Amino acid sequence: MKKKLIIIGGGAAGFFAAANLARENLDISILEATDEVMRKIIISGGGRCNVTHACFDPKELVTFYPRGNKELLSPFMKYACGDTMDWFSKRGVELKIEEDGRIFPITDDSKTISNCLYKNSIDRGVKLHKKTKVDQIEYLGENQFRIHTNQGIQEADYVLIATGSNVSMWKVLNDMGIKTIEPVPSLFIQYQRPSTSRALWPCL
Ligand SMILES: Cc1cc2nc3c(=O)[nH]c(=O)nc-3n(C[C@H](O)[C@H](O)[C@H](O)COP(=O)(O)OP(=O)(O)OC[C@H]3O[C@@H](n4cnc5c(N)ncnc54)[C@H](O)[C@@H]3O)c2cc1C
Repeated sequence: MKKKLIIIGGGAAGFFAAANLARENLDISILEATDEVMRKIIISGGGRCNVTHACFDPKELVTFYPRGNKELLSPFMKYACGDTMDWFSKRGVELKIEEDGRIFPITDDSKTISNCLYKNSIDRGVKLHKKTKVDQIEYLGENQFRIHTNQGIQEADYVLIATGSNVSMWKVLNDMGIKTIEPVPSLFIQYQRPSTSRALWPCL
């Protein structure tokens, strides 16, 4: 029998995970609280979606994250901006690097990105349940989860939480005994360099 993965949250992270994990022997469902997916991608980068940044050295990349630089070095060594460019390129999305290092689809339309993520997940068998808000996750032991939603209960072998900065999900996690730390804003980091000033994605 196929193992079942439930991805909670139909934003950039949930769809990117689904697109990477979609395969025949895994039954994947995305549960999305609202009736619209990838809303933030669509408005991102002023409607153009600043997909990533032309900084290809992980050691330099972490300097843009003053609070998370130590923790991010290892993940960035495994997957960084160049890999994101390759990922979209392999799926037929052409990207362009602008003078300040920001990277956009050549269409200048964020829907190019959301459509690519949709196609590579939903068209490959990932099920999407909209208007399905998760209120509680129960761990039943032996890698079995029971997910309580406003549309009923679903069972899963794996759960992937991709609910962004949604506070109610932190409560769900705390109720499971998973600790969260006090969040702090970290977008719009602006760096003064000796001869230049640039932001990682000054996109609004
Ligand atoms: C105006 C604006 C411009 C931006 N521009 C850029 C840019 O150019 N480049 C860039 O890299 N980033 C940009 N960002 C940031 C970027 O959009 C976000 O970092 C990214 O979209 C976050 O994706 P996510 O999947 O983690 O979270 P989200 O996009 O927030 O997705 C989380 C999803 O989970 C759902 N959800 C929450 N709780 C539950 C629940 N209990 N049950 C079921 N579903 C639930 C939510 O409805 C939502 O759809 C921008 C953000 C904004 C607001």
